[in-house]
Amino acid sequence: MNCVLAIDIGGTKLAAALVDEEGSILRSATRPTPRTEVMSALAALIAEVTEGGPAPEAVGIGCAGPLDLASGTVSPVNMPSWRGFPLRDEVQQLTGLPTVLAGDAQCFALGEHWLGAGRGCASLLGIVVSTGIGGGLVINGAPLLGPTGNAGHVGHMSIDPYGERCECGGRGCVERYASGPNMVRWALENGWSPTADTAGQDAAPRTEPAPHAEPTVQTEQPVRANDALHTEGPLRGGANSPGGSDHVDQGRSNQGEQGGVDHGDQGGVDHGDQSGGGHGEQGAGGHGDKEPGGEGPGDRVIGDREIGDGEAEGGGTGLRAVGSVPGSAAVTGGERADARALARDAAAGHPIAVAAFDRGTRALAGMIASTAAGVELTTVVIGGGVSAAGEVLFGPLERALDDVAGLAFVRAVQVKQSTLGVRAGLAGAANLAWQALRPAT
Ligand SMILES: [Zn+2]
Repeated sequence: MNCVLAIDIGGTKLAAALVDEEGSILRSATRPTPRTEVMSALAALIAEVTEGGPAPEAVGIGCAGPLDLASGTVSPVNMPSWRGFPLRDEVQQLTGLPTVLAGDAQCFALGEHWLGAGRGCASLLGIVVSTGIGGGLVINGAPLLGPTGNAGHVGHMSIDPYGERCECGGRGCVERYASGPNMVRWALENGWSPTADTAGQDAAPRTEPAPHAEPTVQTEQPVRANDALHTEGPLRGGANSPGGSDHVDQGRSNQGEQGGVDHGDQGGVDHGDQSGGGHGEQGAGGHGDKEPGGEGPGDRVIGDREIGDGEAEGGGTGLRAVGSVPGSAAVTGGERADARALARDAAAGHPIAVAAFDRGTRALAGMIASTAAGVELTTVVIGGGVSAAGEVLFGPLERALDDVAGLAFVRAVQVKQSTLGVRAGLAGAANLAWQALRPAT
């Protein structure tokens, strides 16, 4: 059987899979990202997933950034032992196969374009909203990576040239307004404190991630083509989820390692401590039109994805990114002041929490409209930990976009929620490899 080896490398988890041309996973395995000797762990993972299976024809790798495609090197923010690490050459030598590399958010976009919410669309922007904000572009079916692999860095597009200074050195970056930690920071500065979570505590126990625990490998057995897989699920997703801003349950089959997409740190973690200038408009209450614990995108999904328990690519802790809110109490009144609590309070109509999401989504809308105007996007797919907030994020985003976007082709852009979830990165890595083997003509 024809297949490629897809690899997804993040700050807390390494994942690998054999994927066929239709996007079905033949075998897969994951293990925690060790603090050191990452390449040894990756080699063991590759052996685990390939031994006894069909021989892959090529390798596609999605890796947390920064990376340099010209040299094939990576320096993931949360993997300090890899600085300028020649990942592409190492994997190529290890496997003896053609090996292609891209950023993890770029692979997210490519995966969603191939098999997910953006299937078949002409031009797609994938956005990962979690601790940071990452992105990737797929234009005419092909990834737009850029000469060094940094295209799609939408988290650091400026939506306000007079805005707050960003940790990247720029000013008014989207990430400064819309990442989980920054929304939390702004809310705390404006008087928010999390209300008691009376519903979700038991349902969503807050287990801390154990990224450096003893490796546990799960090797999937071969399955029938297109069949659902035991834990991972088929890469091809969304057959029952036609897209739109509907809320697709990506997390129900989570087993620990599937903790949310969270490829967030593409754009650099924004742990800055500058006090926020307020562009937010408070008092816009009444967006709490979906209670946590509702039919899918509510607390359950957030809890399932328990952002940061697994998939914190590049350190993204998404909705639970509380530790990165400098100068503010991690625990306020006994409740963790994290993006998960903020989303819960916004859903309940807490005015400051609602205003924080309004402010963040207005920044996202500005970026989306600008990108759409620049490259004529047809589709935007949003994943990452914060996207698990569902309507709390997508409702105000659609309203903001309606206000911000002007030209007809900009207004026509469709914003959808990720349907692949944590599998998007692997799907994109596989598609990257297939595109290298069989370039579109
Ligand atoms: Zn920036």
